[in-house]
Amino acid sequence: MTVRICLFTRDLRLTDNPVLYAASAAGRDQVLPVFVHDPGVQAAGFAAPNRLAYLHDCLADLDRGLHGLGSRLVVRHGPVAQEVARLAADAGAAEVHVAADHSAFARAREERLRAALGDAGVALVTHEAVVTAVAPGSVVPSGSDHYAVFTPYLRRWSDAPLRRPLPAPRQLSTPDRPASDPLPPRPDQDALSPELTPGGETEARRRGKRWFDRHVDAYDDEHDALADDLTSRLSPALHFGCLSATELVHRARKAGTAGAAAFERQLAWRDFHHQVLAARPDAARSDYRSRHDRWRHAPGELEAWEQGRTGYPLVDAGMRQLRAEGWMHNRARMITASFLCKTLGLDWRAGARHFLSLLVDGDVANNQLNWQWVAGTGTDTRPNRVLNPVTQAKRYDPDGAYVRRWVPELARVGAPAIHEPWKLPAGLRAELGYPEPLVALDAALARFRSRRGLD
Ligand SMILES: Cc1cc2nc3c(=O)[nH]c(=O)nc-3n(C[C@H](O)[C@H](O)[C@H](O)COP(=O)(O)OP(=O)(O)OC[C@H]3O[C@@H](n4cnc5c(N)ncnc54)[C@H](O)[C@@H]3O)c2cc1C
Repeated sequence: MTVRICLFTRDLRLTDNPVLYAASAAGRDQVLPVFVHDPGVQAAGFAAPNRLAYLHDCLADLDRGLHGLGSRLVVRHGPVAQEVARLAADAGAAEVHVAADHSAFARAREERLRAALGDAGVALVTHEAVVTAVAPGSVVPSGSDHYAVFTPYLRRWSDAPLRRPLPAPRQLSTPDRPASDPLPPRPDQDALSPELTPGGETEARRRGKRWFDRHVDAYDDEHDALADDLTSRLSPALHFGCLSATELVHRARKAGTAGAAAFERQLAWRDFHHQVLAARPDAARSDYRSRHDRWRHAPGELEAWEQGRTGYPLVDAGMRQLRAEGWMHNRARMITASFLCKTLGLDWRAGARHFLSLLVDGDVANNQLNWQWVAGTGTDTRPNRVLNPVTQAKRYDPDGAYVRRWVPELARVGAPAIHEPWKLPAGLRAELGYPEPLVALDAALARFRSRRGLD
């Protein structure tokens, strides 16, 4: 009987997983499900305690799910190519199946795997549209290798063929050897965000179902309301592949409401950033479009921003939510990022690094390219827009409930005063103990305009 390795990477699920489905030949042959915990991921700066904890949960859940199908997860620690080649030899595997992934790191991993397996006569089979709904490079404008603007991409993306979702296998047959190493350890609780969400396909499917049943229809009206917190919070599940983007797109199309269409559009943003990064892997570090910025060096201001002590309540609320949950609402991500790059004039890379150190959904394509979008060095067609944190707060947190939740110093201040605490009487300000604004917005805007040569 043929043995194939299913190498799990960012597809930690049983349902709608083309890699697992193909490796088991729809349940007819033997499959060895494998996950390799590669120290290279840590060395490349992608590992962060919140994501390691979520990964641990995902692997534990996957192993439980595989046991339920008569199989198990084989975990190895070490360089992925070396470990997989060794496992293939031990198990007598003829093929290794893996999801195609397009970051520079993932491509280098694929090359190393191909070389190591080729030497042993084992075939490497990659599967597209596992990590994203539409594969990077499968829709391109004429004369270019990727779309640089979202709206024309969305038009083509919406018409692109979508594969059918696959069911979870009913049963799997797995050889008894080789044995598994223990799971990568879950970091200590005190290294984690205290309100971190649990990981794994079981939890992700529960959350997805509940959210679709209750909230998707209102998504277009409510996704920016900071205090209501009605977005799906499926981003970590999508990042680790506990849920399939393809399945979510099908589900949104089936719902057919304006809310579901708005949600589908966000999934298209996710694919959009992946196709930009696939074509321009250096955009993880370098400006996608240089604006010749000369970023300020102000470590004290960077630290105040990281700590949520800028004196701008909405910015501080977002940064404190990030620390507490390892997640932040999208509107708050935009406001806090704009504040760092455009108001303080600090390099987007410093902000992206801090986000990646905490975000449980921290993702090179989505994080770096959203940061570049906000900094105006990316794909935004209005690169000089600046989000005013007070105007944004009054619009998206009108009664101040989001700020009150995350900035306890301001808990007894009503709206709209809560968004401009520097206007409160000096005596009350002293009592509250909330920081004074780090910069004046008018002066900061003038400085930004002059830096970009807009005057
Ligand atoms: C500065 C900045 C950094 C970001 N860093 C990340 C990151 O590291 N990882 C990440 O997944 N998202 C990132 N985002 C995008 C977005 O903020 C999150 O995907 C979203 O807030 C996750 O919450 P949700 O699952 O409730 O989203 P929902 O509103 O429910 O959207 C559904 C899904 O669509 C995708 N999505 C939504 N908005 C975007 C977007 N702007 N770009 C790409 N995909 C999107 C996500 O996968 C999300 O789970 C960033 C945005 C900004 C402005």
